[in-house]
Amino acid sequence: MAAKTMEELVSLCKRRGFIFQTNEIYGGLQGLFDYGPLGVELKNNLKQAWWSSMVYERDDVEGLDSSILTNPEVLKQSGHEDTFSDPLVDCRDCNARWRADHLEDNKCPSCGSENLTEPRPFNLMFKTSVGPVDDGSSFAYLRPETAQQIFTNFKNVIDSTSRSLPFGIAQIGKAFRNEVTPRNFIFRVREFEQMELEFFVEKGSDEKWHDFWVKSRVDWWKDQGVSESSLELLHVPKEELSHYSKATVDIMYKFPHGLEELEGVANRTDFDLGSHSKNQKDLKITAKVRENKTSNSKLAVQNRETNEWAVPFVIEPSAGVDRGVLAVLNEAYNVEGLGEGKQRTVLSLKPHLSPIKAAVIPLKKNNEELVNLAYKIKNQLQGLRLGRVLVENSGNIGKSYRRHDEVGTPICITVDFQTLEDGTVTIRDRDTMEQERKDIADLAQLLKEKLLA
Ligand code: ATP
Repeated sequence: MAAKTMEELVSLCKRRGFIFQTNEIYGGLQGLFDYGPLGVELKNNLKQAWWSSMVYERDDVEGLDSSILTNPEVLKQSGHEDTFSDPLVDCRDCNARWRADHLEDNKCPSCGSENLTEPRPFNLMFKTSVGPVDDGSSFAYLRPETAQQIFTNFKNVIDSTSRSLPFGIAQIGKAFRNEVTPRNFIFRVREFEQMELEFFVEKGSDEKWHDFWVKSRVDWWKDQGVSESSLELLHVPKEELSHYSKATVDIMYKFPHGLEELEGVANRTDFDLGSHSKNQKDLKITAKVRENKTSNSKLAVQNRETNEWAVPFVIEPSAGVDRGVLAVLNEAYNVEGLGEGKQRTVLSLKPHLSPIKAAVIPLKKNNEELVNLAYKIKNQLQGLRLGRVLVENSGNIGKSYRRHDEVGTPICITVDFQTLEDGTVTIRDRDTMEQERKDIADLAQLLKEKLLA
């Protein structure tokens, strides 16, 4: 059972150190959040799972980590300066500003007035000045998507890796959008992370690859614990497609506030590489692109038989890390009745995503022998590099189990007086709550198996 309300998740996230409001002690900054001690682990684990499946488990994808600050020319040529905007309306009565396409019945959500201005485009890109003189002559954009930096590195990657089509470039990193109305916790924020793959293919094979990536991405979300029944595919109607897209399928998820986009899988055709290429007349480009006089590159591949240069098509699965974190938290959240009016909150996260992989708990807080042994076990398990293992030295076993259920720790290992005699510990399973005695020597194998489950 997923969380019933966003408030339940927000409360758990704050209480247990997953997610905090940015600069809370100064009243916050709208549309920005920070990941706390457990949030950073969960987020890293989700990103690592994506990287493994996109780069390590494939033989046709390379990685990249590029700059956030972007030369304005890139975003001019890509069409973002002209078209990366949302329709903005002002309420003439209370001065609130809204996204026109988010309004119900054309009424101001704040005061209910229908006295609204006509929608006008509001560009979502953040600008910042570069260098010591802030006179507006030298500025850069904070990238609104990681993708453009992949396109501008296309030739560098090809030249350094000798890749031929089809192949992809994967990147995880921050993106910035000056959203008109950031809302719904980490769902719509102004600074977020994206996991993007640009997969370059020959024109003609693009539709086949588009179908492949939609299916593959849905399967990946299922592997992260997102149930099929919470996912839906939306084939974006032609009139709503982004300027670069021939077809986009949005992977929609039932967030606590409603069904919304978790990931978009777009067929960006040869628009972006074509836009960033010079001498477009020599090149076969199907998309309508503006003339580019500033680029000094030809972002194309040469056909070995015909010697012709062609700009590849690109399929882009683009997922939001923050929306992913929200989805897996929502799916994992569960309040279980234990009988006799008792209940527990448990995060049934897939073990590979759990912020803490195992908690080692000495039965008595102040018993040096038990505590020392607990640290010895912790160090052994930590040495496996499977993720964070910690000693929970609270002296209260029941409380420790409840705390670790709530943050999704797959196993708790209790060290008691019998451990000192026979080298066995109690393993308590988060999901079944069953406890069994195991040899310390078997713990490494047990943890490995658990994390592969
Ligand atoms: P939306 O329609 O919800 O604004 P979008 O279609 O503009 O999203 P894309 O440009 O396709 O989003 O970006 C790819 C992914 O990046 C989205 O699927 C989403 O997961 C994430 N993303 C986009 N904007 C935001 C945001 N403001 N906050 C958090 N994640 C975002």
